Amino acid sequence: MRPEILNSVFAESQTLDGVGPKLAKPLEKLGLTRIKDVAYHLPERFVTRRAITDLDEGTEGEQVIVALTAIEHRASYNPGRGPYRVMAQDEVGNICALTYFGRASYSAKKLFPVGEKRWVAGRLDRYGDMLQIVHPDHVEEDSAAHLARLNEPVYALSEGLTQPKLGSLTAQALGRLPELPEWIQPSQFEQAGWPAWRDAMHLAHKDLHEKARDRLAYDELLANSLALLMVKAEGRRRKGQALSGDGSLRARLKLPFEMTGAQKRSVQEIDGDLQQESPMLRLLQGDVGAGKTVVALEAMLIANEAGKQAALLAPTEILARQHFETIRSMAAPTGVEVALLTGRAKGREREGILMGLLDGSIDILIGTHAIFQDSVNYKDLGLVVIDEQHRFGVAQRLSLAGKGRRAPHTLAMTATPIPRSLTLAQYGEMDVSRLDELPPGRQAIETLVVSQDRCADVIAGVGRHLATGQQAYWVCPMVREANGNWQTGDIAAAEARYAELKEHFGDDVVMVHGQLKPEVKDANMERFASGGAKLLVATTVIEVGVDVPSSTLMVIEQAERFGLAQLHQLRGRVGRGSEKSRCLLLRGGELSETAQKRLALMRETQDGFRIAEEDLELRGGGELLGTRQSGDAAFRIADLDQVQKYLPIAHADARMLIEHDGGLTSDRGEAARVLLYLFERDWGVQLLRGG
Ligand code: ADP
Ligand code: MG
Repeated sequence: MRPEILNSVFAESQTLDGVGPKLAKPLEKLGLTRIKDVAYHLPERFVTRRAITDLDEGTEGEQVIVALTAIEHRASYNPGRGPYRVMAQDEVGNICALTYFGRASYSAKKLFPVGEKRWVAGRLDRYGDMLQIVHPDHVEEDSAAHLARLNEPVYALSEGLTQPKLGSLTAQALGRLPELPEWIQPSQFEQAGWPAWRDAMHLAHKDLHEKARDRLAYDELLANSLALLMVKAEGRRRKGQALSGDGSLRARLKLPFEMTGAQKRSVQEIDGDLQQESPMLRLLQGDVGAGKTVVALEAMLIANEAGKQAALLAPTEILARQHFETIRSMAAPTGVEVALLTGRAKGREREGILMGLLDGSIDILIGTHAIFQDSVNYKDLGLVVIDEQHRFGVAQRLSLAGKGRRAPHTLAMTATPIPRSLTLAQYGEMDVSRLDELPPGRQAIETLVVSQDRCADVIAGVGRHLATGQQAYWVCPMVREANGNWQTGDIAAAEARYAELKEHFGDDVVMVHGQLKPEVKDANMERFASGGAKLLVATTVIEVGVDVPSSTLMVIEQAERFGLAQLHQLRGRVGRGSEKSRCLLLRGGELSETAQKRLALMRETQDGFRIAEEDLELRGGGELLGTRQSGDAAFRIADLDQVQKYLPIAHADARMLIEHDGGLTSDRGEAARVLLYLFERDWGVQLLRGG
C-alpha cells in the first residue's frame, strides 16, 4: 500500500486548477497523468532570450524575440515532405523564414495573416543564405519584453500545450508537494551538500541547479538499486530447481555449422547455472549475428532433457515468428514440440496451445508478451529466455518468474553492446556471458557515407543491385521527440520515399513501419522474407533480429539522426549470407564535427563493443541507456554522467540498507519505501510481503 504521505503527489494531474479534459489529453501524451509526473517533468534546458527589433542584431543560434510581419506563405510542392514557410520581415526590412514541418503548418496559416505584425520567439538559424526560425513560439505583445529574461525553463511539449501553460501547471504541482522524510544516507547527503527533496524539486525547475539535479538523479538511482537488490534477494529466497540435462536431445541436433568457442563457453556457463538450485539470472550479450539463437536453443533443450518446459519471449510479433520458424526447424531432429503463442492466436488455436502447455505436451513455447497472461499456465516451466532484454522491464520479468511453481531460471539476451561501466546500471547484478567472437567466414560489410544529394544515384544503384537478384533494405529515420511523438514529418517522409521507390521498382517494393496495422506489416514482412518482394522500405521496426540472408544492401537515410547503437543494429541486417554486403549511410546537409566522427566510426569498424565505447565518449552515450525519451530508458532523470558518478555510491548505499534492514522497517527504511513508491519501483516493496 502506498504511503499516505504520497497521496497528493499521486493525485491525477486533472485535479490541477485549469486542467479539463482538453488539457488532460496533451498532458497524458507526455505521460503526465499525475501531479508527481508534472513535477518530475524537468525542463529540458533553460534559455536566455533577447528581444531584438533588427534581425541583424541577433547572432546565429541565439534565442531571440522579435516582431515580424508576414509577407508571403510558401507551401512545399510536395505536401507532407518539404516544410511550410512563412516569409516575414522585421521592422527594418530584413527577411526571415518561419519554417514549419508536418502538421504544425496548419497553425502557421492561421497565426500569420499576410501584412500583420506578430511577436515570435525562437532560435535564429541560417538555412542556405536565408535566416530562419523553425517552429517559433508565438508571444503576446505585452509579454514580449517580459519574456526576454534569463533562465527561462523550456519543457518538452505536446500538441495543445504551450510553455507558459505548462509552466503554470508545474508551479501548481510543485506547490502541492509534501515534505518527505530523508532516504539518502546522512553522510552522503551532508557531504554532497544537497537540498532536501522538496527544495530540490523546486530548484530544478528554476535554473540549472546542479545540486538539485544531482540529488534527484541520485534518488532515482537509489530507488533502482534498492528494487533490483530486493529482486535479487527474493530470487535467492525462492527455491528454484536444479536442472541437469543428459545431453540426449542436444546430441540429436544437426547443426549445419560448428559452434564458436564463445558459443560453447556460454552454453557451458548456462549449463552450470541450471544445475544449481538457485534460479539462474544470466545475461547473454552478443553482437548482432553472433549466434545467440542457437545458444538459447541449447539452453532450452537442457531444460527439456531435465523434463521441464522452456519459454522464449520475443519483443515483437515479427521476431517471435522468426524465432519460431528457426527454432522449430533446428529442433526438428530432436522431436521436441515447439509452439508459438502471440496476441493474435485466438479461439481454438489458442486453446490448443494452452492445453498443450498445461498437459506438458509442448516443450518449448515461443511468443510475445502474450505468454505472460494470467490465463497461460505451464505444467512445469523450468527456463525462461528473454530476447532483447532491454525492452522488458524488471516488473515483467518478475511476472514471468512467478509462472513456475518454483522460480524458473532466466536467460536474457541482448545485442545492445553496452560498455562495461554501464552494465550494472542496466542489468543490476545479473551474471554475464559475452559472445565476443563472430561465427567464422563473415564478410566485412563495406560501409560508405554518401551525401543525401546523391539520392538519385543511390536509387539507380539499388536498381542495379536488385537486377542481380539480391534484395535490399531502405531505412528512413523515425525519431521520437522529447514529447514522445514521432518527429513531425518523419512518417510523411517515409511514405513519400516509398512512393518514389515504387515508381522505380513497382511491386518489388514493400513497406513496414510502426503505424501500419500488424496484419499488413506482417504480410509485407513475410513477402520480403520469402523473396516475393525485393526491396523493403522500413523505419526502425526492422532493427531487432530480422534475418533475411539474401538481403545484401542497406541504405540508411539521414544516418546522422540515428544513434550509433541503432545504426550498428540496422547494419547487422545485412552481411548474413555468403555474398558481399554493403551499407550506404546517406547524410543530410552539413554535419557537426561530432556527427562526422560518428559516421566515420561506423565506416571504420564493425565491432559493436568498440562502437558502444567510443560513442559513449563522443556524445555522452544517452542512447545506450535508451534516450530518456524513448520509453525504454533505464532512467528518466539521471543522465549518463550522473549514472557514472553516482550509481556506484547509490548501489553501495542500497546494499547496506538492505543488509541491515531487509524489511525496510527502520526510520530510514520507511523513508526508502516512500522513495520506492515515488519512483514506482513498488514491485520492490511488494516483494517484502512474503518475508
Ligand atoms: P543473433 O546473435 O543476432 O541472434 P543469430 O542467432 O540469428 O544471431 O545467428 C545469425 C546467423 O548465424 C544465423 O543464420 C545462424 O544460423 C548463424 N550461425 C550461428 N552460429 C554459427 C556458427 N557457429 N557458425 C556459423 N554460422 C552460425
Ligand atoms: Mg537474435
